[in-house]
Amino acid sequence: MLTPTIQQRLALVYNRIAAAAKKHDRNANDIILVAVSKGHSHIEIATTIAAGQLVFGESYVQEAIPKIQALKNIPNLTWHYIGPLQSNKTKLVAQNFAWVQSIDREKTAHLLNQHRPAHLPPLNICLEINVSNEESKSGVTPKNLQPLIDAVQKLPNLRLRGLMAIPAPTSDYNQQRSAFHEVHELFKSLQQQGLPLDTLSIGMSDDLEAAIAEGATMVRVGTAIFGERIK
Ligand SMILES: *Cc1c(COP(=O)(O)O)cnc(C)c1O
Repeated sequence: MLTPTIQQRLALVYNRIAAAAKKHDRNANDIILVAVSKGHSHIEIATTIAAGQLVFGESYVQEAIPKIQALKNIPNLTWHYIGPLQSNKTKLVAQNFAWVQSIDREKTAHLLNQHRPAHLPPLNICLEINVSNEESKSGVTPKNLQPLIDAVQKLPNLRLRGLMAIPAPTSDYNQQRSAFHEVHELFKSLQQQGLPLDTLSIGMSDDLEAAIAEGATMVRVGTAIFGERIK
């Protein structure tokens, strides 16, 4: 059997997004695909760029920066930081990324605001919600969300765009949906409070259909595009 190419896999992911959107009466153009390139080289990233993909996600600062540098002459790329973020790495992230999706404490937000270069637009922010995932050490619980929102909104170099979540993995479609449903309800309630949020970042390779059923406006997909990661 032939191994599919990265371009073929990317096309399959776009087909999955289109099919799930259609099934739930949604417009596929309202769902942004972030291609998660952690564990893969800038050469593999360049292959997907050649196929038209311009939005990428990385989870480790040390690994990401050389790849971003290697591709810096290619116009219109958007880099999302989606991994855990230590204080001593906030400067590099503020300088090199357009989005940070993994904010779960005020301290990180303050440091990113402080280090965001003046010549760049505000850094787009998603707050990471810890939803039905007690094992996960990352993410703010819904109960502790409001003070974090208030803090981020006061920071001029950050722009709060929405919520991100990584529920505990399960192959059960209904369980996937029920975790995403919780985040979607939270997202809608914040919008109803008048917050101008436009981004609900939920769904990965194995659960993007459930996420789209529950209102995802952004899915973060690695393995289904680039193949298994080596580490
Ligand atoms: C690695 C990662 C992804 C992509 O996961 P796949 O299962 O490979 O699609 C998405 N989001 C975050 C935060 C990740 O760390």
